[in-house]
Amino acid sequence: MITGKTRLYGIIGHPVGHVRVPMTFNERFARDGIDAVSLPFDAAPERFADAIRGLRALENLGGFVVTAPHKQAMVALCDEVLGEASLVGAVNTVRRESDGRLVGELFDGQGFVRGLLAHGHVLAGKRVFLNGAGGAGNAVAFALARAGVAAVTIHNRTASRAADLAQRLCVAYPRCAVTVGPKDARGFDVAVNATSVGLRDNELSFEVSELAPSTLVAEVIMKPEKTALILAAEGRGCPAQQGKHMLDYQMDLMFDFMQIGANERK
Ligand code: NAP
Repeated sequence: MITGKTRLYGIIGHPVGHVRVPMTFNERFARDGIDAVSLPFDAAPERFADAIRGLRALENLGGFVVTAPHKQAMVALCDEVLGEASLVGAVNTVRRESDGRLVGELFDGQGFVRGLLAHGHVLAGKRVFLNGAGGAGNAVAFALARAGVAAVTIHNRTASRAADLAQRLCVAYPRCAVTVGPKDARGFDVAVNATSVGLRDNELSFEVSELAPSTLVAEVIMKPEKTALILAAEGRGCPAQQGKHMLDYQMDLMFDFMQIGANERK
C-alpha cells in the first residue's frame, strides 16, 4: 500500500510506455517489504531539464533510472558523475541525496558483463567483435575492456562513431587492443550486437553462418527476447546471450547505488 511515508523511485524517458523498470522494481519492493514505489516519468527532451529540477526538489524521491533519449543530457544535470558514466559520457541511474544533490552512474555495460559472467562465460583474455558505437555500444565496450578482454574490434554503420569510441577506449584501457574493423565477426571469441538492428525487423546485425560454433553471440536488444541474430546463432550451434540479461543484472547494482532498502524497510 502507498502511504505518506512511501519513498519514490522512477524511470525517466520519452516515450516510456515500453519500459520494464516499474514492474521489476515494484515486484522487488513487494518481495523484500520495502516501502517504496517505482513510477514512469515521461519527459520530452525540451522539458527534460525542467523535469529534473522538479525531481531534485522532491524530498521523498530516492533516485531514478534514466533511459532514451536522456542518458547523455543527464550528465550535465548531475552534481556529480561517477566511474563508467564519466568515461562513457552517459548516465542511466541517479541517486538523489538528502540535500538534493544528484549523483549519476552508468550500469548498462556492467549489467551486460555481469549477465555473461553469471551464465558461465569467460571474458578475460577474449577477442571481441562489437557492432555498434551508439549509447549501448559505448557502455558495452568500456565494460568489456574493464572486464579484461584482450581485444575489441569495433564496427559501426557511421564509421566516425566507431573511430571516436575506439580512440576513447584506447586512452582509458591502453592494455586492451582496440581497432576499428569491417562488419565481419569471423575469428572472434565473442560477437556482440549493440545496434538497434533486429529491434523492429528480422535483420541480422552481422552474418553468423560462418562463425565457429564456439563463438559466443551476445545481444543488447531486449524485445523480442530472441532476435533474428540470437535465433541464427543458436541455429549455428553458438552459445547465445539475450539482451534482457543486460537489464536484469543491473538491478542489484542500481539498488545498491540508490541505497534502496536502507531506510525503507517496513
Ligand atoms: P543509439 O545510441 O541511437 O545507437 C544506435 C546504434 O544502432 C548505432 O550504432 C547505429 O548506427 C546503429 N543502427 C541503427 N540502425 C541501423 C541500421 N539500420 N544498420 C546498421 N546500424 C544501425 O541507441 P542505443 O542507446 O545504443 O540503443 C541500441 C539498442 O540497445 C536499442 O535496441 C536499445 O533498446 C538497446 N539497449 C539495451 C539495453 C539493455 O539493458 N538491454 C540498454 C541500453 C540499450 P549509426 O551510428 O550509424 O546510426
